[in-house]
Amino acid sequence: MMRRVYMDHAATTPLDPAVLDAMLPFLKSEFGNPSALYAEGRRVRSALDEARDQVARAIGAKDPGEIIFTASGTEANNLALRGVLTEARRSGAGDHLVVSGIEHQSVLETAKALADEGFRVTYVPPGPDGIVAPQRVLQSVTSGTVLVSVMLANNETGTLQPVAAIADACKGRGILVHTDAVQAAGQVPVDVEALRVDLLSLSAHKLYGPKGTGALYVRKGTSLRPQMTGGGQELERRAGTENVAGIVGLAKAIDLAVQTMEERTKRLRVLSDMFLSEVMRRIPDVTLNGHATERLPGVVNLAFPGVDGESLLLNLDMHGVAASTGSACAAGSVEPSHVLTAMGFADRARSSLRFSFGRDTTADDVEYVVDVLERLVKRLRKG
Ligand code: PLP
Repeated sequence: MMRRVYMDHAATTPLDPAVLDAMLPFLKSEFGNPSALYAEGRRVRSALDEARDQVARAIGAKDPGEIIFTASGTEANNLALRGVLTEARRSGAGDHLVVSGIEHQSVLETAKALADEGFRVTYVPPGPDGIVAPQRVLQSVTSGTVLVSVMLANNETGTLQPVAAIADACKGRGILVHTDAVQAAGQVPVDVEALRVDLLSLSAHKLYGPKGTGALYVRKGTSLRPQMTGGGQELERRAGTENVAGIVGLAKAIDLAVQTMEERTKRLRVLSDMFLSEVMRRIPDVTLNGHATERLPGVVNLAFPGVDGESLLLNLDMHGVAASTGSACAAGSVEPSHVLTAMGFADRARSSLRFSFGRDTTADDVEYVVDVLERLVKRLRKG
């Protein structure tokens, strides 16, 4: 059988067996509705409470009541933007949203939908290094600005964003700050106090947890209008019977991610540095997209001028290597990366690929991928 090397951990990660073990009771015997008052329900409620505690602790939230479980990172981002903006309009607090131009589609498309509904939206571009400067964010705010949303780490380039500095700049002005920490969580320390954010999004499947589970941290006192109406679940902020197994899985996954972070990310950094330096040494004319050091330990986005990224991706797949042209949602579409385009490199967008490493990636995998890449790039450049 052909060797397979999975280099797309930023798209999703495999489920950790320990996470599966924690989830199984809630898919088998513990079927009670957590809102029910009898014993079967109370047992499940207590698992839910514990999961909320664990997630709160993992991100430094003071009160577990600040965590709202959602069905995805996408839903968490939707709830953050829509929840804050619609409430602000209702109360007359303002109608202006500021987002960076390199956000995930779940933020950008929500911003676009809000603009269609009459909200004012400003997009802040990054610099050529992929970093959104706090100063540029500040230049975009007005007296009607309600919310600023800038991701903690970009999913295509892995570039880390100065969210704490952005939050500091906004704070004196009474503007709320949201960060999409879906890619950053488990890779770099995520602490809502250190970041000084009011809202923060998480997703379980980027952390060796299950797909279809996310969470939104909402700082106590933040006015948020529920987007899913119905029963009183999630402290009246997100109706619907909770996905208990998924939530328990998210909590276990983020807990394990925090415990293992130091060692795991040190290893990832060594592997991705090795990959980068070997590619640069053996393949001419390759550039790293995004900031060289301010980036996630396991994400490397490279431009191979003269090579069509999609052809390279398909050829890599034929040689057993799974990589990505950028975000999973954009994969399959012919749209060039909005992130690289916003950074001023539209020309590179069609010849760039993202390689993202995970805890099972080995030095041997890295060598294999570099070998394959060297051969393929040479062949594709010859045309
Ligand atoms: N935000 C970022 C930065 C992401 O990379 C992703 C997933 O690709 C999401 C949000 C969406 O998360 P989910 O897949 O749980 O909807």
